[in-house]
Amino acid sequence: MDSIFNYTLEELEIKFTQNNFKKFNAHQVYDWIYKKETLDYNLMSNISKDLKQYLKDNYSLSLPKIIIKEISKDSTVKYLFEFNDNSKVEGVLMHHPYGTSFCVSSQVGCNMGCTFCASGLKKKTRDLEPYEMVSMILLSSIDSAERISHIVIMGTGEPLDNYDNVVKFIKIINSPKGLEIGIRHITLSTSGIVPNIYKLADLNFGINLAISLHAPTNELRSKLMPINKAYRISDIIEAVKYYFEKTGRRITFEYLLLEGVNDSRLYADKLADLLSGLNSYVNLIPYNHVEEFSYKASTSKSSLDFYDQLKKRGINVTLRHKMGDDIDAACGQLRSKVN
Ligand code: SF4
Repeated sequence: MDSIFNYTLEELEIKFTQNNFKKFNAHQVYDWIYKKETLDYNLMSNISKDLKQYLKDNYSLSLPKIIIKEISKDSTVKYLFEFNDNSKVEGVLMHHPYGTSFCVSSQVGCNMGCTFCASGLKKKTRDLEPYEMVSMILLSSIDSAERISHIVIMGTGEPLDNYDNVVKFIKIINSPKGLEIGIRHITLSTSGIVPNIYKLADLNFGINLAISLHAPTNELRSKLMPINKAYRISDIIEAVKYYFEKTGRRITFEYLLLEGVNDSRLYADKLADLLSGLNSYVNLIPYNHVEEFSYKASTSKSSLDFYDQLKKRGINVTLRHKMGDDIDAACGQLRSKVN
């Protein structure tokens, strides 16, 4: 049976009117599900018996199961969800001064093969459907009894390799009648699927775009991220300029600091050369060690030196704190543990 979480409000209105119900019934149902978190048609007290029956016959309200839930000292919650076909994906709930964010996965496994990433150890078995991404948010919001105000599409998978489903997912969670997650509170992180950056720019949603860059030269980036052989750094820079022109949104560049690999002053200078004049900022990320790989996190000293050098060169930069560090489950690791 189709999931009700797969529908935008407009699509549900059409379905309802085609079946002799009223448009506003779709608003009522959206309100019960997303505002009141009522996941039982029988409890939707202001809708007719006929509509309840129609809904029961046609649209499932089922959520994934939570297989693992780990809470770190800093209150970050890491979930491993399981769907009906036994596919397992992760999601992470994080608390910030500005609200609660949820990091959502977009695929089961990932084909991009980034050499530092635990998620990439398992090849993609399938894309996630919009309802699956929506239902992870709904479930973690119910489970934590918190309103999720920000979404980062940064978990397992390459979201721009699942473009149509991710775009629909964004439309569903952004609906003011639904989860009402502001477009400026949604961030999509990509390894750089250039043609779909242009497509996303043309949609002009205005979501935040983050590029997993991790190296300022093609030579090094191709070693870390095989996708760089298909789309070069210069292609990405052109695409993000276009994204900025279309949406006015500043671009984030994610840069994982790997000891002795990409954290020298030389690389900081090359990164500054690459990004100077671009409306962007760099997010330096400490590496979470993954057993299968030999990479190590940069020392605090090299991280700070790298940060200082970018600052000196006039680049907007932040050095991210590790979140959920004590439960040490970098993206992809919960899933590997269970598998
Ligand atoms: S970093 Fe992202 S794109 Fe790269 S393998 Fe991991 S999940 Fe895939």
